[in-house]
Amino acid sequence: MLDLWFTEKQTKNVNFTCRIARTLHTETSKFQNIAVLETEEFGKMLVLDGTVQTTVEDEFIYHEMITHIPLYTHPNPKMVLVIGGGDGGTIREILKHPSVELVVLVEIDERVVEVSKMFLPEISSALNDKRVRVNINDGIEYVKNLESNNYDVIIVDSTDPVGPAEGLFTLDFYKHVFKSLTDDGILIAQTESPFFNRSLIKRVYKNISTIFPIAKLFLANIPTYPSGLWSFTIGSKKYDPVSTNLQDKYDIDCKYYTKELHRSCFVLPKFVQELLK
Ligand code: SAM
Repeated sequence: MLDLWFTEKQTKNVNFTCRIARTLHTETSKFQNIAVLETEEFGKMLVLDGTVQTTVEDEFIYHEMITHIPLYTHPNPKMVLVIGGGDGGTIREILKHPSVELVVLVEIDERVVEVSKMFLPEISSALNDKRVRVNINDGIEYVKNLESNNYDVIIVDSTDPVGPAEGLFTLDFYKHVFKSLTDDGILIAQTESPFFNRSLIKRVYKNISTIFPIAKLFLANIPTYPSGLWSFTIGSKKYDPVSTNLQDKYDIDCKYYTKELHRSCFVLPKFVQELLK
């Protein structure tokens, strides 16, 4: 039997390697190479341009944290925009919130959506929900052309800041997001590893805090992402995610997120605090 391994080059000096049972799918779309691998340890894995996006075994951590922190912070999230996120995991979590009436997914690569629907139904099934509109478009252009005051929550569930995702980490983009949010709206973005992407985190946090009255960063542990430690940055017009009263809120079914964790994930190690000064 063949001994097959997948390797992601995470930095110039660090690789992540795991054993795979087989390749389920591979293709090159207009934007990127898309692969779905069956791994021994993490179940099925979605890989874009050689970079792990999500796996069936650990996706709940990322998708719960990028969703439930902002949606529990907002008292009545009805309209939600997701930029990127074509695998559908974030959409699945958003739809657990009973107040949500409409979710718009703006994904640049139609093939990510199609491949996820075909090979990763555990993650993508909510994409077929009637509250969801899938819009195949560049998220940067989409927010630029939006009228003001549209969304209660905007979630940037993007790839790393290269290629088409690069502009999703810029001051200009966050200004358009601010305009597109309602008066008490909340932005959340995945902002990479505090270990390997320090200058990016510094820059993004500074940009978000110059635009939004409240800026906060929190961490989660994601085994298949570079360094295992991942950051998310919030920009909020009115509600502080740390002081939200969660006691009277409804419960939802989660594997990682808890109301205690909602507060504790904002308690940062010293070296991460230093990045935000
Ligand atoms: N959880 C993931 C991570 O951190 O690696 C992200 C998952 S999701 C698959 C990322 C998606 O962002 C990709 O499908 C990619 O096509 C999409 N994307 C990248 N740049 C984009 C842009 N400018 N507008 C809309 N979608 C974009």
